[in-house]
Amino acid sequence: MQILQLGSRGPDVLRLQQQLNRLVAPGARLVEDGVYGPGTVNAVMQFQRSKGLFPDGKAGPNTIAALTGNNSPSAQPTVGTAFNPSGMTFSQRLEAFLSDADSRYHVKVGKQATTRDPADAQKWHIAHMFYYNSFAGRKPAKNETENGHSVIQWAHISSPTLVWGHGVDWKLFLRDKSGLVPVKMADGKSWTIGHEPDKQRSRQAAFKILESAGIATSDVGRPHGAMVAPGYEGCGEPCMCGGHPSRHTAGLACDLNKQDLKSLEGKLTLAKAGSLDAYLKTFGLKRPMPSEPWHVEST
Ligand SMILES: [Zn+2]
Ligand SMILES: [Zn+2]
Repeated sequence: MQILQLGSRGPDVLRLQQQLNRLVAPGARLVEDGVYGPGTVNAVMQFQRSKGLFPDGKAGPNTIAALTGNNSPSAQPTVGTAFNPSGMTFSQRLEAFLSDADSRYHVKVGKQATTRDPADAQKWHIAHMFYYNSFAGRKPAKNETENGHSVIQWAHISSPTLVWGHGVDWKLFLRDKSGLVPVKMADGKSWTIGHEPDKQRSRQAAFKILESAGIATSDVGRPHGAMVAPGYEGCGEPCMCGGHPSRHTAGLACDLNKQDLKSLEGKLTLAKAGSLDAYLKTFGLKRPMPSEPWHVEST
């Protein structure tokens, strides 16, 4: 069967236009002139989207079959009826989106981080708030400015009597001037002379924690811009910024592969299928952080 497309003419195009006018929403009425122009392309794409077909604006066998109601097995649309996200969990929405992107646009979008252990998230958050705080409106309870960022105050973080919260171990963070773990006096109220915490060494240790978690850049000379939300409701000492816990810790967020999302955006543009955000929205998903366009949550 011949594929009808932009530039096609004749009785088949006329019949197509008549069918479209019957099936596609009234108001977008097409001139029935037997000429496959841009208006016909748009109407075909609109119809294809409504049927879960690849919206290429051409009337091939699958589109014609869907228009005439002749859904023989070989002419089945590749995707079923529109997904309704209401009442669906985050992971159901995510899986529906991933499989639709694969079947409709032939892009397999990879998942990076889904869930995080709260204790890990808290540890990374403290390292983030100690080394480089990228949260615009959120400051640690006791803070100082470092390279223009409100990080945890050194006097606070290095206090020998401070009790760190949520199981975050100060021994992972604090270093003396030799790069070793500082030593407390027997009473626990002061540091052993010569083994006090050193600010630069400790900041380096925080950077290393982020780096080994894959959060920091490997370019040690430059600060990184990753956001790390706390792991627990109510961030603990030494930060106490009051931040909301990372939605990753609750399995309510997923980081998707950046390159895959770019390919998908390219396919959406080619198919004139709208923006990635509009596409995500049909699955009840959103990208809440412009600085992390790969981070996806439920709407
Ligand atoms: Zn915090
Ligand atoms: Zn994320």
